[in-house]
Amino acid sequence: MFDSLSDRLGGVFERLRGRGALNEGDVRTAMREVRIALLEADVALPVARDFVDKVTEQAIGQQVLRSVTPGQQVVKIVHDALVDMLGSDTAELEIGVTPPAVIMLVGLQGSGKTTTTAKLAKLLAKAQGKKVMMASLDVNRPAAQEQLAVLGTQTEVTTLPIVAGQQPVDIAKRALSAAKLQGFDVLMLDTAGRLHVDQALMDEMKAVADIANPAEILLVVDSLTGQDAVNVASSFSEQVPLTGVILTRMDGDARGGAALSMRAVTGKPIKFAGVGEKLDAIEPFHPKRVAGRILGMGDVVSLVERAAEAIQQEDAERMASRLAKGQFDMNDLRAQLAQMRRMGGLGALAGMIPGMKKAQAAMASGAVDEKILLRMDAMITSMTPKERAKPELLNAKRKIRIAKGSGTTVQDVNKLLKMHQEMQTAMKRLKKMGGLKGMLGMLG
Ligand code: GDP
Repeated sequence: MFDSLSDRLGGVFERLRGRGALNEGDVRTAMREVRIALLEADVALPVARDFVDKVTEQAIGQQVLRSVTPGQQVVKIVHDALVDMLGSDTAELEIGVTPPAVIMLVGLQGSGKTTTTAKLAKLLAKAQGKKVMMASLDVNRPAAQEQLAVLGTQTEVTTLPIVAGQQPVDIAKRALSAAKLQGFDVLMLDTAGRLHVDQALMDEMKAVADIANPAEILLVVDSLTGQDAVNVASSFSEQVPLTGVILTRMDGDARGGAALSMRAVTGKPIKFAGVGEKLDAIEPFHPKRVAGRILGMGDVVSLVERAAEAIQQEDAERMASRLAKGQFDMNDLRAQLAQMRRMGGLGALAGMIPGMKKAQAAMASGAVDEKILLRMDAMITSMTPKERAKPELLNAKRKIRIAKGSGTTVQDVNKLLKMHQEMQTAMKRLKKMGGLKGMLGMLG
């Protein structure tokens, strides 16, 4: 997600930070580059323009340019503007009303609506202990109702029994009374999709919404369709009172244009992001964290949350205090690797750890899996305690010894060292920015 944007912005900021003093010209040059980076990430043109204007105006303020760390200040301004663009606060689901709270999902065919219905239902049922029922109103696509029933079985969420031939509005009525009678907290309605936005679809949605009086009408859009996703969202929000957007396939979206312009163009918050095909691959959308991720600061908060189960308390505290000092040796890397293994590989975590994106690029194919993690661990095991604490000791001779000891090659050892170095640099940068605490403050 956001990989190329993140790289481009990283380069711009590196140059800004590298200079002691900044003048207006420097800022304007940097902001031109930011604008190009945003456009290349497929951000809508007016959104990119507004963004850059706003940031430029703030950044050439006297106080910023006269400050001791103008480069850092500019990055902070960009960060805050990104958060603004993404929607400021994490948008919560409105399910506090009299049960059953109805959550209606709408969107085009293939956007991931049915999968997302099941993902959300599972999240509400498992993580929040809600009693959830799902019903499919999709009578257009053959087997759509059956698809939801199968997902219901997989997620252990109740689905409304299928009555052949029944029309959407009637299904909605039946679902509502069943959910009321049986004391469900939440009723999820998966509506029919179409290939394009059309009036029949909109009319059907409105009729269902009139009957069901939903607490949430969430539009599901495929982030891979970029600006089209934003246009679809605009058309829908003109016709139905959307309460939010769910962007799917964020796992495959390297550019991020839809996520970045969605809020500004539609005025609707992104509430969740779909990040994979599995039924737990859904995350609340946290603008602050995403902004941090884009700026290469790493999504430390999400990381810490995910790691909470995998990390022993002392480990976490030790790590936090070392991070705060900007220290990061081979022992730290090893501890990180072990955690990654426990957390299910690097894939999910890349981008969350400061510097990890670059480190990953330094790895052979970019695809880091369990085997590679184990190999890296074997290399660190083959080092002496001194070497682990001071990796710069590793000369050619020592590298050969380590490669032999771990059944790897000197090339592998070099890659490990490179990765460590990237992460160490990131940690140092983190420290310069006021340490983990400072950064967490920035991420909110
Ligand atoms: P619908 O027609 O809108 O109901 O779409 P489906 O829910 O049937 O999803 C279409 C395809 O997209 C399925 O193969 C899903 O597994 C896949 N899909 C849905 N959400 C995501 C996501 O967040 N990431 C990825 N990689 N695939 C997804």
